[in-house]
Amino acid sequence: RIEAAQRMQGLPTQFFASLVKRANAKAAEGHDVINLGQGNPDQPTPPHIVASLQESAANPMYHKYPPFSGYGFLKEAIATRYKEDYGVYLDPETEVAILFGGKTGLVEISQILLNPGDTCLVPDPGYPDYWSGVHLAGAEMTFMPLLEKNNYLPDYEAIPTSTLDRAKLMFLNYPNNPTGAIADEDFYAKTIEFARKHNIVVASDFAYGAIGFDGIRPKSFLELPGAKDVGVEFYTLSKTYNMAGWRVGFALGNAEVIRLINLMQDHYYVSLFGGIQAAAATALTAPQTCVDELVAMYESRRNALYGALARIGWHASPSPGSFFCWLPVPKGYTSTTFADLLLEKAHVVVAPGIGFGTHGEGYVRVGLLSSEARLEEAVERVGRLGLFKG
Ligand code: PLP
Repeated sequence: RIEAAQRMQGLPTQFFASLVKRANAKAAEGHDVINLGQGNPDQPTPPHIVASLQESAANPMYHKYPPFSGYGFLKEAIATRYKEDYGVYLDPETEVAILFGGKTGLVEISQILLNPGDTCLVPDPGYPDYWSGVHLAGAEMTFMPLLEKNNYLPDYEAIPTSTLDRAKLMFLNYPNNPTGAIADEDFYAKTIEFARKHNIVVASDFAYGAIGFDGIRPKSFLELPGAKDVGVEFYTLSKTYNMAGWRVGFALGNAEVIRLINLMQDHYYVSLFGGIQAAAATALTAPQTCVDELVAMYESRRNALYGALARIGWHASPSPGSFFCWLPVPKGYTSTTFADLLLEKAHVVVAPGIGFGTHGEGYVRVGLLSSEARLEEAVERVGRLGLFKG
């Protein structure tokens, strides 16, 4: 008889797994399903990065174990990119950790920093993977509501002092999944002051850092003076270079947190396959035209989507960044009943907001991960249900 350890009990299962299953079942019945519910980039990795992997894969040096904590050339490549893009200096040896996808670092940081009895400040709505790490650490979560009236930024003043005494770690994520919100310099300055005052480590999840619209370039948390004293930023190649399947991410910033992350990663993974590290360095050091083109593509898709939404009378403010749009559900529906209806009657998959936390209720998340024509068609199908007029 296999009995799982206590820490496995209550580990949340993937909320969206059942939705994906049902969407696949619909497609198997022969329906033309438009899936806007997942966050998987639909475009291939740029050819120069694939070519770099092909070349590196043939290099016998990479067939051996990679060095613990990864190759210096990749740490230098990410440090150079941060210097060029954000004017942030990072010491490649002490302030950079290479991760097996951003996700591993986001789960590990809770295990590294939290004890039972501690609490972690978590955005609500937010990326569900933050929850798993806190659960595995045996710590608690304190949800910080992200409300539309506050531009989806948390209100630190609303957190009770008794909670702050136990808070050791805080997750932030801008550009935001699921709301698309972007944070400005003032917010980050306030965050650093707050983190210092209450001795809280900030984990800034910058997975969508490259994706800002209308000429807005999202700020990195590390651009603010003092950021490295209080936290780290998580960066990933998954979205910026369409490399979700390659599993390359980074933690950047506070040297002590980076040391602990490297220690943990060394035990689990040694490091990524060297050929992937070489191709990841190519992604970061080659001309960044592919990133500009990607952002322009998402912006056109966003404009097409909101144009179509306006035509059917579904009113929402355009998403300023990330590749997600956060749309209010019509009266009389919850996020789940509405998502179910769209799947059943329009064969359109959207992610119900409740899957991202209590404050996600009343919204659905739509990913800009299909062509403009498919996005428009999805909205037209929803329009034909007649829910938004009159
Ligand atoms: N953070 C957020 C907010 C995400 O949406 C994702 C992926 O969907 C990640 C982190 C993880 O990215 P990675 O592919 O690097 O594990």
